[in-house]
Amino acid sequence: MFYMARLTIIKEGNPLLRKHSKPVDDFSPRVHELLDDMQETMLRANGVGIAAVQVGVLYRMAVLLTDEFGIVEIINPIIKAAKNLRVAGEGCLSCPGISGRVRRPHLVTVEFQDRNGQPHTQTFRGRDAVCCGHEMDHMDGILFIDKLQN
Ligand SMILES: [Zn+2]
Repeated sequence: MFYMARLTIIKEGNPLLRKHSKPVDDFSPRVHELLDDMQETMLRANGVGIAAVQVGVLYRMAVLLTDEFGIVEIINPIIKAAKNLRVAGEGCLSCPGISGRVRRPHLVTVEFQDRNGQPHTQTFRGRDAVCCGHEMDHMDGILFIDKLQN
């Protein structure tokens, strides 16, 4: 049996969004199901990224909808290189109705694990790099509204 469920996205003002998420050491079917549900929840909300904390789970993992690679799940990500700082528009599923300009690297190389615990190194460019940076900020309790530029 296989199905995906739509989860509730918590909103700005919920103190969970300000917490630091913990490393993932569980690559079991339970976590695979959570990742599937995060993907479903993101797609149905027309988002391009979602971090586990946004569905109330304090795990360092996120699902990205990238232009270059399609769906990418990043678990325990670490930035290895970042450059091309630029300002671009962003929004967040946890901050409905708010958008603004944020300065971020538009080229990032990230080490992470996949849902089976296998290590990967991947370089994200442009909007994909912005998305990756935004979701990794969620893992440390940071929202894009903290970084708005004039
Ligand atoms: Zn967000």
